[in-house]
Formats: sequence, C-alpha cells, structure tokens
Amino acid sequence: MTAFVGILLSVLILSSTSDNLYKKAQKLAKEIIIIDTHIDTPGILENGWIDISKRHNKGEFDYVRAKEGGLDAPFMSVYVSARFENNGAKKEAENIIGIVNKVISDFPDKFAHANSVIDVLTNYKTGKISLPMGMENGSPLEGDLKNVKYFYDRGIRYITLAHAQSNHISDSSYDTNKQWNGLSPFGKKVVEEMNKVGIMIDISHLTDDAAFQVLSLSKAPVIASHSSCRFFTPGWERNMSDELIIALAKNGGTIQINFGSSFLRQDILDRENKNRTDIANYINEHKIMQNGKEAQEYSEKYWKEHPVGYADVKDVVKHIDHVVKLVGIDHVGFGSDFDGVGDSLPIGLKDVSYYPNLIYELLKAGYSEKDIKKICGGNLLRVWSEVEKIASNNFLK
Ligand SMILES: [Zn+2]
Repeated sequence: MTAFVGILLSVLILSSTSDNLYKKAQKLAKEIIIIDTHIDTPGILENGWIDISKRHNKGEFDYVRAKEGGLDAPFMSVYVSARFENNGAKKEAENIIGIVNKVISDFPDKFAHANSVIDVLTNYKTGKISLPMGMENGSPLEGDLKNVKYFYDRGIRYITLAHAQSNHISDSSYDTNKQWNGLSPFGKKVVEEMNKVGIMIDISHLTDDAAFQVLSLSKAPVIASHSSCRFFTPGWERNMSDELIIALAKNGGTIQINFGSSFLRQDILDRENKNRTDIANYINEHKIMQNGKEAQEYSEKYWKEHPVGYADVKDVVKHIDHVVKLVGIDHVGFGSDFDGVGDSLPIGLKDVSYYPNLIYELLKAGYSEKDIKKICGGNLLRVWSEVEKIASNNFLK
C-alpha cells in the first residue's frame, strides 16, 4: 500500500467514526430527556407575538427547532426586570405567566404545563414539550411570604432571588450596593418558605455572600439556573466560584451552565466590558439621554463596529469538565439563556436545535451515555424530586 492510499484510508476511517459518533449524538438527543433551565422566550413574546409552534427567525426557540434538538423541558423564564421592584412586580410576573399559559392553550398538542417531575415524564412520553416556569427575580413576592405559595399555585417552580439589582430579598452580583451583606431578614424567611412549599431556590445572579447564606439555610438542594464557572472568568461574581460549586454540590444541587460567550470566555467578557464602558463614556460626554433613541442607535452601531467574537460549543464542554473534576458528574446541567444573551451564542450552539452538537462534543470528550443522561436532565430531575419530597414531608408534619 502506498503512503497516499494509507493516509486516504485513515482519513476515511476517521471521518466515518466521527460520522457514527454524530449519529449516536443525534439518537441520544432524541431518546434522553433534555432539560434547559433558562430560556427567555416569554420576554421576546412580550415585545411582539410570534407563532412559536412554527420555525421562525426572531429568536432561538420554537417547537420545530426544539424537536430537532431533542429538547423536552425548557424552563420558560418569567423574567421581571429590577425596575419593577416596589413598582408593580407581581403584576408584571402575572403578564409573563399569562404569555406562557397562552402558548400552551394555543398549541395544546405541542406544548404542556409541567408542574412536577411526573408531568415532565408524562409529557415526554406523549411527545409534548414541557414548559415549566422559573421566575427570574424575587421582586414579585412584594414582601409577603404568602406570595411564595401564590406563585407555586401559578406554576412557578424556581425563583431566582434577585436579578440585576439588590432587592428586598437579596443582594445582586451586578449591583455595587450590597445593602444586606447577602440575604435580607425577609429573604431568609423566603428560603425557608420555598423549602416548605416546594419551589427550587435559584442562586444565579446573587452575590457570593447571599449564595452561601442560601446554601447554609436551605434544607433542599439548590440550583444555579444559568451560571458558568468563574474559574474561566476570574473575579466575575455572576459566574460561580469553585468554592461555591463545591458548597452547592455538598447541598445536593446543580449548576446549569450558561451558553453566553462572555460567560464562557474571559477574552470575550473583556471586550464586552470595554464596549459597554466606551458607550457609557460617549453618552456621558455628549450629554445624550441614557435610554433615548440616539443612545440606542449609537450603541447598536458601536457593537456592530466592535464585534466581541464568539465562544465555541467546545467551551461549554470545558465548563462541564471543570464542574465534573471539582464535584463529580451529579451536579451539572444546561441553562442556556437562549433568547436572553443577544447575539452572544457560541459557534455550533446557536439555538435549541443544536443540543446534538453539544452531546457530540460530550461523547468525544469521553462521557458515557449514563453521564450524558445526567448532564442533559437527570441531575435537574433529581434536585426537583428532592425539593418536592422535602415539601411533601413538611406538609405531612
Ligand atoms: Zn439572567
């Protein structure tokens, strides 16, 4: 055999093994339950209704692409902006819950409510996509503990205690005002009440102090619904430190990796921060109205002229590897932030049809089918079941 034929043969064998592996990834994506704990589509629908039962190009989630990607249970984010704190937050949460309910009632053969682990399993069997809800920001509790049960009854199954600003429950990693040094006295009661009622506590967006306080108070496992590893973005509190991941795992919880490129890579985060600072400086210097049309136009043009680049699907696997090395296979999952991070999604992971790519990279990295099942949804279902169990034990007391 000549050297040329030898090389050609090995290239053919290699490409057919990677072909086979890709087919295996596609098959796995269809067979196993894929849960994503953070998809911001309701926010897109609030700005203008889209028929998400069909393929569309105004966002990253619809029924057709979800089916292609094998996605079974995307948590719809009931996102309530920090500006609603003490200013109609509960009403805004109701608006968003109404949007999710409308999607389900418009397309009952495609989407379904999922208020429990059993619901997710049942919908999976019937081929419907579950739309469980997670509330991003605790502001809608409006200082009344009874609202925890109220939102449970409305279908909320996790609450991110704070968002971009410190609120009456907790400090936020994005806010320089750390008014509570962690959780407020009311926030500590909220943790207890969520355990009792059976809502998962989400520590994404919180300060380290607040997150550690949640972990020491909560009787049930906790999630970080859409955060990545701070190991790759040192000093950025929005991602989880190794210490925090270890404490989260000890409590039985799971970190759901955010796919946003700046969550995954320091160089991209740096370029994003520089753009933001440059834009803010220009607006200040030219005394332009902060949220006005001119500022918006300038900002859009600036981002276009200063692209920050994209991470790669392999970067998500690096974050998963990091968690697995730290705490094992039982404490990691997906919290993509699809429809929530703008034009910042990695190459090879642009919308909900791409989960097979991610599974392919996990297979290439040596993860077994059993491991992949845990990462894709098993870990989250375990946490959710434990939260349900602790709440029902409490009910029996
Ligand atoms: Zn968020």
